[in-house]
Amino acid sequence: MSKPAIGALQLDFLPDGVARLTFDQPGSKANTLGQVVFAELENALKNLESRKDLRGLIFGSAKPGMFIAGADLKELASPNITAEQTRQLVQRGLDIFGRFENLPYPTVVLIDGACMGGGLELALTFDYRLAGSHPKVEIGLPEVKIGLIPGWGGTQRLSRVIGPAPAIELICAGDSVNAQKSRELGLCWDAVPSDQLETEAVRLISWSRESGDWKLQRLRKRQPVGLSDDQLSFAFRVARGAVEAKTKGQFPAPLAALDAIAKGCNLPLKDGLRIETERFVPLVGSPISRNLIALFFMTQQLQKDTGVADTKIQPRSVQQVGVIGAGIMGASIAGAHIRRGVPTLLLDVSREALDKGLAAITKVHAGRVEAGKLGQADLLKAMSLLTTTTNLALMADRDVVIEAVVENEQLKKDLYGELQKHLHADAILASNTSTISISRMAESVKNPANFAGMHFFNPVDRMQLVEVIRGDKTNDVTVAMLVALAKRIGKSPIVVRDCPGFLVNRILFQYLNEAMVMLEEGADARALDKAATTFGMPMGPITLSDVVGLDTCLYAGQVVNTAFAERAASTGILDELVEAGRMGQKSGAGFYSYAKGSRGVDDPALKAFLDRCGKGQRTHSQEEITDRLFLPMLVEASLVLAEGIVREPADVDMGLILGIGFPTFRGGLLRWADAIGLDKVLASLAKYERLGPRFRPTEQMRRFAAEKKGFYQ
Ligand code: NAD
Repeated sequence: MSKPAIGALQLDFLPDGVARLTFDQPGSKANTLGQVVFAELENALKNLESRKDLRGLIFGSAKPGMFIAGADLKELASPNITAEQTRQLVQRGLDIFGRFENLPYPTVVLIDGACMGGGLELALTFDYRLAGSHPKVEIGLPEVKIGLIPGWGGTQRLSRVIGPAPAIELICAGDSVNAQKSRELGLCWDAVPSDQLETEAVRLISWSRESGDWKLQRLRKRQPVGLSDDQLSFAFRVARGAVEAKTKGQFPAPLAALDAIAKGCNLPLKDGLRIETERFVPLVGSPISRNLIALFFMTQQLQKDTGVADTKIQPRSVQQVGVIGAGIMGASIAGAHIRRGVPTLLLDVSREALDKGLAAITKVHAGRVEAGKLGQADLLKAMSLLTTTTNLALMADRDVVIEAVVENEQLKKDLYGELQKHLHADAILASNTSTISISRMAESVKNPANFAGMHFFNPVDRMQLVEVIRGDKTNDVTVAMLVALAKRIGKSPIVVRDCPGFLVNRILFQYLNEAMVMLEEGADARALDKAATTFGMPMGPITLSDVVGLDTCLYAGQVVNTAFAERAASTGILDELVEAGRMGQKSGAGFYSYAKGSRGVDDPALKAFLDRCGKGQRTHSQEEITDRLFLPMLVEASLVLAEGIVREPADVDMGLILGIGFPTFRGGLLRWADAIGLDKVLASLAKYERLGPRFRPTEQMRRFAAEKKGFYQ
């Protein structure tokens, strides 16, 4: 007997007294937990609680690769949610989940896909969890990644099911595990082939009824975990140290989660849940959580973006690619393609250069194998997709060719001239240049509509961002094909109209440049770095310059400064250091010294260089440093937006988050400005306007301030 589906849930009754509840949210690829689904769960529970003939319950999803993706974030992210509403939302979930935990018969949940956040919290109320063999099985509580903690019992039930230490690890990092690992942790009872899940669940219900084991499972979840005071204080001291080191005081959620586990795990469940709610409620709607949730939505939007406005554009399929230049960038770009199954031909001028490139690819792959991110079989498969050559004619069958030869405009143009004798008419040519104009280089190619930039970031292996640069004549199909290709190899592409520095470097160089200006005014290099990392940047501008290479900074900085000369402040320190052979980390010395592999120690020799080009001995307050590093970036970002270099504010914010590690908890540069309020930003800029036009608010900023708007309307 089966009841017709009403909305997202369907309740069926299997022959031997077992009920089966199936979740299948209409019109969506994901199942999520929101108020409408809660109402349906409450209805289903009424039925399940009232039936006297039931022997067990099985709960699963009808969507392939998906159990429950989590709570409906739109409800939690609602701008006007009050603490009281949050409390009600939490309590409703806790009540529903608790009712599943109290059903008078064994319950089994089938997890054959993503089981995240609220999905896992619900699954934890079941007596048994069975994982299926679908490759998308992923189980975790990622709430800290959006500035929250699990609020529907996750902190309490997970620490009782798998023990506090592994629960802390999973919850405080927001990590997830696969089916195998979930079984090892005791989070799932077993991992079985997907097509046997239901049969196994029925068998498990029979066995647990006979053995009474389901009652023991429940008891374990209701009781305190029973750590001694010593165990408790030791475990949490260590964990707190680790979390603090990782979050640098900038992310409150992991510590709140830790606190909820620490204070709740040695109490009965109901008291633990109360503590969890107290820790959860203040986080909802906090600026950090709002920013992280916004980031989550921006990421989703980026994943869906085709790169072009016209929805009728159909990218042609890309069967195989070519990469020209097997240096730092070319080799790793080729490596990224073969890892994702795209056959790749790598070309360089000599066998020697190709061998070097191959060695670099092998090293990255070996590292991935060692870290358990790549299996031996995957490695072999990837390497079998790579061919190398010194013969340009072999590029004839490539659908996309990515050029990554040395940064020399004439050399690149000459190469395109030769290459085009071989490419087929539809082939796309993309340059990885970081500084040369795509529109200008397009003049030297036969078909400028099929030419664009595809700007990867170094190291390609770790950097997710790819700027797809649209030249004046690049057509939509080319853009859509490069966007699709970048996504296929696991990157996050952002479409940028051609301009010097493109999106990220154009804005980044304002930051690096201002650091040089302050250094020459007498600011201490460490103070500059400290202010930036305190703001949340992964490294300060001085260290970043050393890491990128001072010669590269000098050259790329000149390109940006020449193009936007009105806003560029002139400095001499980079010239001096490069002239002296101090190229940064790679040469053993730059601003700091890297002698004997050190991570950068103060170098007394720097003073002589600063004395030569320094203009003062002023000490700068941390506030001034922060203002001066980030305000010129903001002015440039506003210009980028106003000039239509990118299509929306989220492109700027995502570009800087992915490209230079702009702090996620600030939601991006523009969101940071919105949070301060543009009227206040204008007041801050006014303090420094005497220093030059780089501190002059743009028309757009003035308008938004007058209209009391932000960059995000
Ligand atoms: P690299 O010097 O490491 O490698 C360049 C490779 O190109 C060398 O192996 C060289 O032999 C080869 N080459 C030179 N002329 C060639 C030709 N005519 N045909 C085939 N191969 C040729 O340089 P890189 O750092 O990998 O930079 C390559 C491109 O990527 C440049 O345009 C650069 O601006 C851009 N880029 C570099 C970085 C970075 O951080 N290194 C980041 C983003 C973009």
